[in-house]
Amino acid sequence: MTTVKGIPYLQEFFYLDSIERETGHNGQTEALDGNIEFENVSFTYPNTDSPALKDINVTIRKGEKIAVVGENGSGKSTFINLLCGMYDPTEGSIRLGGKDVKSNLSAVRNAISVVFQDFARYEASIRDNITVSDTERKASDDEIMELLRKIKVDDIVNEQKNGLDELVGSFSEKANNLSGGQWQKISIARAAYRSKARIMILDEPTAALDPMAEAQLYRNFASLTEGKTTILISHRLGIASIVDRILVFADGRIVEDGSHKELMRKNGYYARMYNAQAQWYT
Ligand code: ADP
Ligand code: MG
Repeated sequence: MTTVKGIPYLQEFFYLDSIERETGHNGQTEALDGNIEFENVSFTYPNTDSPALKDINVTIRKGEKIAVVGENGSGKSTFINLLCGMYDPTEGSIRLGGKDVKSNLSAVRNAISVVFQDFARYEASIRDNITVSDTERKASDDEIMELLRKIKVDDIVNEQKNGLDELVGSFSEKANNLSGGQWQKISIARAAYRSKARIMILDEPTAALDPMAEAQLYRNFASLTEGKTTILISHRLGIASIVDRILVFADGRIVEDGSHKELMRKNGYYARMYNAQAQWYT
């Protein structure tokens, strides 16, 4: 597994950055919308020798539902990190709605809601853990619960004695520590709560879920991502049926791009991976 040490920190930064902005420190709440374009993008992490992304050219149209698949270390998370403006491309350019990501960082981050692989576990009430993603939005408890029911993660609250007020946290004796799967549901709820974002990114959102919860997430994928450009990263290929289009990463490149049907017909890398996994997943 290629777990990246820097990501949890970057993610905290991502939300703290939003909070600072939304409480008016720089008064800017503009959000970009439109197509996502990568043009000749290559990227090498600082202090490493070989590029993590190589000559990426792709356009994701507004409203498209995309799956990004590929083996561990193939560059999937790096692709997202660059889209979110966490790093600048070493070469090439990335645009959202025709605007350069690098020079419009806060408007880009406003546009995006992410469920990260390593998501934050704040020591706070469940309510605050969910609503931290959009501090401008003022939702009543009823509205929060309605949202949780819609995306079928309301059990995380119903299981608690104090409901939304339940104090949770990873490192505390006072707070109730949740299971990995429960935390993952909170992170999904957090992303969904950020309803103003027009782009939803889910990076391996099922990693800590049991198979039942995973199946449920996929059944509710449509309501979770309704009306939003969606990028779902997974090394599982069973997700093919719920997306419009699949980008296949291998060794830092997009090696195939098309619908599940098209890629199966092509009978290349994706089809080989799919058939190999199908032996295990069906
Ligand atoms: P995936 O998400 O597909 O598993 P990543 O995008 O995380 O792949 O990683 C792509 C490559 O970049 C891997 O070789 C990985 O080791 C490397 N990498 C990822 N994050 C960092 C980092 N913060 N610093 C240095 N190298 C990294
Ligand atoms: Mg990854």
